[in-house]
Amino acid sequence: MVPRRTSPPRADRTSSAIVPWMLKAKGVPKGKVKLLVDSKEQIRLAWERDSQGTKGFPLNTSYLFLDLESQLMGRKPRKIRSIPYPKVPTRLSDILPEEVVQRVHEYLYEQPFEDALAEVHSADTANASLERLKNTIETALEVRHFGDEALPAPRGNWLHRQLLGIITAVAPEKVTDSEMVELFDHFCPCGIEHNREAIKKFRWRHSRRQIGKPPVG
Ligand SMILES: [Zn+2]
Repeated sequence: MVPRRTSPPRADRTSSAIVPWMLKAKGVPKGKVKLLVDSKEQIRLAWERDSQGTKGFPLNTSYLFLDLESQLMGRKPRKIRSIPYPKVPTRLSDILPEEVVQRVHEYLYEQPFEDALAEVHSADTANASLERLKNTIETALEVRHFGDEALPAPRGNWLHRQLLGIITAVAPEKVTDSEMVELFDHFCPCGIEHNREAIKKFRWRHSRRQIGKPPVG
């Protein structure tokens, strides 16, 4: 059904026709297909506004994906947190909740937080792991205080994790790796061609653990 890719991403107008058809064939309701199809241009614009994720944390893109995911899953959009501390902090966890530390760590290092903790326990990995945790805690303090703006620019797969999030929201488990490549080629503004092996590995890692959720919110 989906031809093997042997050439660069197909022309836009071809995938524009294939993508809605493919999503409908997966049983995705009409309204959600429309929402997804319309999001392509929004994603591109947000990513462009965030200077392709090179300058700092891609706030516009991040909020767009949060919003899309909520809509696709039929949840109310999350409010952006504007007041960092609800009350006068009296203990460390008030200004540095473990949840924020976890998420910041997973954002910075694309590694499950529990794995980082386990590595502290092993003599071989303790030093490197402690170094990463120190950096994580410093960044997490700033994120908790100033918001996501305090985060550095994302590493390679951040954008792909967001995309995978919205695709999974409408068609969990139903999309084959080749189809996923089609969808990434269609929606992803990263400018790099997506290949099946990489997508397959990436999906596997992602399904192992949900990492890459936004650090705050
Ligand atoms: Zn991409």
